[in-house]
Amino acid sequence: EAEDAPQRPRQRIVAKGSNVPAHADSFTELAERYQMSSLLLSNLDRYGYIYPTGIQSYGIPILLESRDLAAISPTGTGKTLSYLLPVMASLGAPSSSSNSDAGAGVRAIVVAPTRELAHQIHNECLKLAEGRKWRIVLFSKASAATLAEKATRDKVDIIITTPLRLVASLRSGSLELDNVRHLILDEADRMLDSEFFPQVEEILAACTHPSIQKAVFSATLPAGAEKMAMQMLQDPIRVVVGLKDT
Ligand code: ADP
Ligand code: MG
Repeated sequence: EAEDAPQRPRQRIVAKGSNVPAHADSFTELAERYQMSSLLLSNLDRYGYIYPTGIQSYGIPILLESRDLAAISPTGTGKTLSYLLPVMASLGAPSSSSNSDAGAGVRAIVVAPTRELAHQIHNECLKLAEGRKWRIVLFSKASAATLAEKATRDKVDIIITTPLRLVASLRSGSLELDNVRHLILDEADRMLDSEFFPQVEEILAACTHPSIQKAVFSATLPAGAEKMAMQMLQDPIRVVVGLKDT
């Protein structure tokens, strides 16, 4: 199997923390180990995601085992799927489906520093969601307005947003985060620097569900941001992917 794997730059991967889950070398192994839905798997396949990248093979099991994670991996190594896949697998069924115990408010939030980035993450999420009635919202002034009714926004599964946009809705009381089970900060070096950290703190304070999972993803994590990450994460696993020179 390994022989068929694509030629990727050689990576050095270090995972540190308590009881680090075993990494998985293929998406089928992940699906078997964690009973991931065949729909998610076929969506991966359809978009040409055949082999997990390094951060995916380490990060996905960690998130599927409900652990907090600080993931540091270079640009272009597939960090987005590293959190979207396990979050969607953990959510199970969309909140709109009748057999779901959800529907009590948005269950997953992805925060990214720019609208452009949030937009890209949203597109990636829609690919994975194909074939099921997930409600995945790219947060904006307009979409915030469509969520004015509580009954509507209670059925949202995932919100992808910039920190400013989210905080504006929290302050106006037009969104609750008390049912959020997964909070992801992408480009965490920026999310945890002095520009955004006050807003991140407001978001954290609004996420009151006792079993929330938190994860940060970044290409780099400078000392200050790392310190903030370790404060917000609980018993985290820290995965660092470095490219090896060949
Ligand atoms: P990062 O956030 O680490 O910079 P992205 O998540 O934006 O990386 O992914 C970079 C590119 O790699 C995207 O075009 C994405 O679709 C693609 N990609 C991600 N995971 C895989 C995979 N397992 N196999 C093939 N392509 C992938
Ligand atoms: Mg990225």
